Amino acid sequence: MSPSQSVAELGEHALIARLQARVAAPPPWIVAGIGDDAAIVSPPRGEVIALTTDSLVEDVHFRRAWTPLDAVGHKALAVNLSDLAAMGAAPHAALLSLALPPDLLLADFDALVEGFLTLAGATGMPLVGGNITRSPGPLVIDVTAVGSARARRVLRRSAGRANDDLYVTGTLGAAATGLAALRAGLSRPGLDPDLAACVARYERPDPRLRAGVTAARSRSVNAAIDLSDGLADAVRQMALASGTGAVVDATSVPVHPGTRAWAERTGADPLSLALSGGEDYELLFAVSRRRRRGFLAAAQRWTGLPVTRVGRLTSESDLWLDGPRGREPLGAGFVHF
Ligand SMILES: [Mg+2]
Repeated sequence: MSPSQSVAELGEHALIARLQARVAAPPPWIVAGIGDDAAIVSPPRGEVIALTTDSLVEDVHFRRAWTPLDAVGHKALAVNLSDLAAMGAAPHAALLSLALPPDLLLADFDALVEGFLTLAGATGMPLVGGNITRSPGPLVIDVTAVGSARARRVLRRSAGRANDDLYVTGTLGAAATGLAALRAGLSRPGLDPDLAACVARYERPDPRLRAGVTAARSRSVNAAIDLSDGLADAVRQMALASGTGAVVDATSVPVHPGTRAWAERTGADPLSLALSGGEDYELLFAVSRRRRRGFLAAAQRWTGLPVTRVGRLTSESDLWLDGPRGREPLGAGFVHF
């Protein structure tokens, strides 16, 4: 078999065998992994199961010309892990379903699988099954992630309360900046390091599992959500679900340095990239003031990951952005359709 062969030449069973050969030995809680009609997993004692699914569709979520396929494999799992992190759930098992154009090269299949399995290994997320089928159109990668948490520690987006402070992890705008740089056709070699970091964030988001899981265990967080569609959208979703309003302080939003550099170069507004640029996959937490110390103590253990207070939930239902120009309505996030 040569990597320049197409997946159609190999066929479904050989592809599954090829994938299975790369999967590490399963951890003890996997009773039956890949190879039977269904996987069997034991739930951790005293914990509930969190389930989430998300797919990446070629030419909707990625372009093969812009993004290497190992990054696509990484991202397909990362976006699901981000949803588990937002619930405070630890990784437990994953299912991977692939719809492959028949002319896809075996080398590309291998890269896709490699990106997925490398992140799966790094996050303790065993691949326990899935499906491979032919696609008459785009490449589709569909992932189902299973997580677990103690029922009383699960983080819901709907449990925020008026006067909770809003904290966000990391820096914002990076993924949208990275995508803009790729769209503008900037070549990777010689890219300014801050911009290169933005491209890396777009291609290989780093799900904030440690932050989500330890925040949940610290019992200091009322509500959490991940930033798939930008900070403004996450604040809106959390406030809506919690029956509150919110105020975001524009001057405290942690804008990625690459986003600032890009804004200077192109005249784009760095704040709107940070507020509405999607795919940063950071976490937003609502923390009551009396739990602030406990939360910040937990956050100290998120080595290298800053956390910034960006606003608060309010008792009125309106959503506001407080900035140097005064108060204005909080704009919408990234919209898929
Ligand atoms: Mg989410």
